[in-house]
Amino acid sequence: MQAAGWERFDRVISQSFRFSYNTLIMNPRRPTRQITLGDDRVGRVRIGGGLPDPNGNPTEPAPVAVQTMTAGYTYDVDACVTEIHKMTAAGADIVRVAVPKKQDTEALKEIIPQVQVPIVADVHFHYQRALEAVEAGVHKIRLNPGNITDRDQVNAVIDACKERSIPIRVGVNEGSIIERKDKQKRMEELGKYFSEHKHGHLLAIMIAKLEEYMDIFEARDFHDVCISAKSMDPTLVIDVYTEISKRFDYPLHLGVTHAGPKETGAIRSVVALGTLLANGIGDTVRISYASDPVYEVEDALEMLYCLGKRERKGAELIACPTCGRIQVDLFSLVQEVRHKLASDIDLPIKVAVMGCVVNGPGEAEGADVAIFAGDRRGIIYVQGERVANVPEEEILDRLLEECRNFQERVRRGEVKLGEKKVDIIPPDPIGELGSGEAKIAAGLVDQVTVGKS
Ligand code: SF4
Repeated sequence: MQAAGWERFDRVISQSFRFSYNTLIMNPRRPTRQITLGDDRVGRVRIGGGLPDPNGNPTEPAPVAVQTMTAGYTYDVDACVTEIHKMTAAGADIVRVAVPKKQDTEALKEIIPQVQVPIVADVHFHYQRALEAVEAGVHKIRLNPGNITDRDQVNAVIDACKERSIPIRVGVNEGSIIERKDKQKRMEELGKYFSEHKHGHLLAIMIAKLEEYMDIFEARDFHDVCISAKSMDPTLVIDVYTEISKRFDYPLHLGVTHAGPKETGAIRSVVALGTLLANGIGDTVRISYASDPVYEVEDALEMLYCLGKRERKGAELIACPTCGRIQVDLFSLVQEVRHKLASDIDLPIKVAVMGCVVNGPGEAEGADVAIFAGDRRGIIYVQGERVANVPEEEILDRLLEECRNFQERVRRGEVKLGEKKVDIIPPDPIGELGSGEAKIAAGLVDQVTVGKS
């Protein structure tokens, strides 16, 4: 951009926004109390932070933690342990298990010593399951104010957790928030629920029940608490968490419940959770799918990486959507590259897979390793240097070889990630060198050209 252009850009920015460039989109993280779960063996996971601890010492906000939940029966010990191992390998920081029956809490005694991640017992209806889970050595309890309401029962759980420094998540859910026992109250709440302002009434009921429930914890001087308030409706999730964030200083566990299959559930979840996280709200997340929970972990991590809420582990893959200029089977290539990178690359190497040299280089700017395909061939670049021009059938192996070599060089300290960018030179204004494909075929391309075709 020329000088005059930059001046105008600066003027527009300063007129439009009253804060610095790097906070244009992301709001600062909301400070909360901090809770910690886990032990020496499985490790400790901090949640939230930014406010002083009970001794007045400052706390640093912890990275947003990723949770998921086992899909099988907890009493099936071997299957449950296998599932938890898969989740841990995928990057889950915390795993929740359902404990509807005593045989489930009994199983926890065998499960917990075999896993390397803090375990949360998900308790509904039966407060005894919470007490049994605490005895079994669980690292956190989830209680639902919609179905464990007896004050003495809640107090019993609070006291057991307090004795062992076990945090409790108070998890309100839209689906279980309407009164069940008191018939008159139920009719009143249902009347509001189905009124024309359903969204607002539902939000009000969720907040009121949460406040009522939290009074029990405050009265017991128990603050080792995390809060959630989930719904199937992403807009309600955004509104209710925004409201809760103003009323409580406890860390928040975010989630869109019953979000559906991965294909649509990802959209529902990321719309709500991404909005909240970008606004600085949220300390742990669970994306929930009617699918393999490993996808929940992978997608939650990718969301946090994209929002800059976690340091990326493993390669970052960008790829073009393809268009009428494509001359290789890019979709298959991208999937194969994705799988191989996941298994072979630990460092956050940025890899770009582009369908052609026409627009590709501009999109791939900043990639450490990039491939630009065309004419059934691919040119591979490593930090801006052209290292290969190979036929289509060799692209995958060569690209991965270059990624692995690059990773080793980074580890040896010879190069740094993101040090050199793809070198972009001005577009070929009159197309005298022909199309991108023709340039590759003719061996004319040493430096990639960027520009619209
Ligand atoms: S990189 Fe090339 S093939 Fe891919 S979308 Fe852009 S112009 Fe089309």
